[in-house]
Amino acid sequence: MRSRRTVGEWWQEAQRRLEQAGVADAQAEASWLLRLVLRVDAGWLHVHRDQVMEAGQSEALASALERRLRREPLAYIVGFEEFYGLRFRSDPRALIPRPETELLVDVALELLRGQAGPVVADIGTGCGAIGLSLARTIPTARVVCTEISAPALELARQNAVELGVADRVDFRWGPDLDPLRELALESGLHVLLSNPPYVRSAEVDSLEPEIAHHEPRVALDGGPDGLDFYRRVVPRCLQFARPGGAAAFEVGAGQAEAVAELWRRSDPTADIRIRRDLAGVPRVVLAVKSS
Ligand code: GLN
Repeated sequence: MRSRRTVGEWWQEAQRRLEQAGVADAQAEASWLLRLVLRVDAGWLHVHRDQVMEAGQSEALASALERRLRREPLAYIVGFEEFYGLRFRSDPRALIPRPETELLVDVALELLRGQAGPVVADIGTGCGAIGLSLARTIPTARVVCTEISAPALELARQNAVELGVADRVDFRWGPDLDPLRELALESGLHVLLSNPPYVRSAEVDSLEPEIAHHEPRVALDGGPDGLDFYRRVVPRCLQFARPGGAAAFEVGAGQAEAVAELWRRSDPTADIRIRRDLAGVPRVVLAVKSS
């Protein structure tokens, strides 16, 4: 793009090129690029449509647009995503936090209501969205965030520092429940949480290019039927919960009943419940350990 152009001219051209690249809602996307790169709000954009941009602004916008045209997710381009009202640093080391995952934080808060100094685990924490949101919301909570991906764990650690909760969060590398065992947390947790990989292996490549080509496969691929994590972890996870404690896991669309059934079979004494997200999709399966 020519460098000396107005905000409005850039907006129109960006919209046209995003449309050509197959990006849905190109107008809104062009607006987001402008707002996030120029650090302005929607009102400013409308008032300053005829303002000629400075060279530095044009360059920053051109490079952001090129990345978006390669279908890189906006969160990676601008380097952050909002989750639970908080700002999480976001880059290709970890999955971008999704709005539907906020339900898992809500469920955890319900389960922990009235509990002083709860101890919580977030298994496969990624950028830290679930565990760190809880640490921020409950000032007395202690949180163990685990990850099989060392780069993701490093990102979560940075987010903990930026959110001011690093002193109450323990970051542990390892698969599934291994880090909890190493910490001797048997019967020690009030709640275990996870948004594990749950996409069927064969479906990962057919997801939108933003996901399939840019987000870490290890955070998405849940095995042939998407249920590998639950099959490994459901039968063993409540041993880390205190009596009356609980585990709650996000599931993919259409998976809730299969996961609930896994739980009923592995622990007939647990109280199994399913919660729907704002779109009405059964999204969280939880099990409360008998007290
Ligand atoms: N919700 C993600 C998606 O849109 C999947 C995340 C996951 O596997 N936990 O594909």
